[in-house]
Amino acid sequence: MKQHKFKHNHSIRSKIIHKQMLPNIINKIADSVQEQSYMDRDLKKLIRLLKKKHESANQSILERLNISSSEIITGVMCEKCSYSPLNRIHGTWFCSKCKNRDAEGHIKALRDYELIIGPRITNRELRSFLHFNSRHAASRLLKSLNLPTTGTKKGTTYDLTNFHKTSQLQNKRPAIK
Ligand SMILES: [Zn+2]
Repeated sequence: MKQHKFKHNHSIRSKIIHKQMLPNIINKIADSVQEQSYMDRDLKKLIRLLKKKHESANQSILERLNISSSEIITGVMCEKCSYSPLNRIHGTWFCSKCKNRDAEGHIKALRDYELIIGPRITNRELRSFLHFNSRHAASRLLKSLNLPTTGTKKGTTYDLTNFHKTSQLQNKRPAIK
């Protein structure tokens, strides 16, 4: 009986760590792990390799999914009721279905454009995508976004690279009147 009790206590003791002892035991375990430095080194090596070998996907999402650009529903979409296209009236986007207004609708649409069609857009392409006619209004809209450009006059191309990553629309991309 005595023998049995002793055995029992011993097995419990090996499983229970007193809270005062916990920091010491954690340190002991950490010290006993010799392979840590190798793991760190291997990880760094792997990170370097991944960075070196990384290349952006150059195939457009449309090609990948075998979708024609003519199948894409264009225009600014209503946030409230998903109706598309919204009309640009007095410097804002107006939903004729639910009467909602969205001053930044073009920004959301251009994020979609970047991800679906590509990172470059001309004034003509913008008008076609957002469904509005005025070249001057389109030009004002594009200028308000402060995008990098290449080319001049009608050949100007606006660069939307990483446009979809922009956040806090209100602060960064002022709506134009
Ligand atoms: Zn609506």
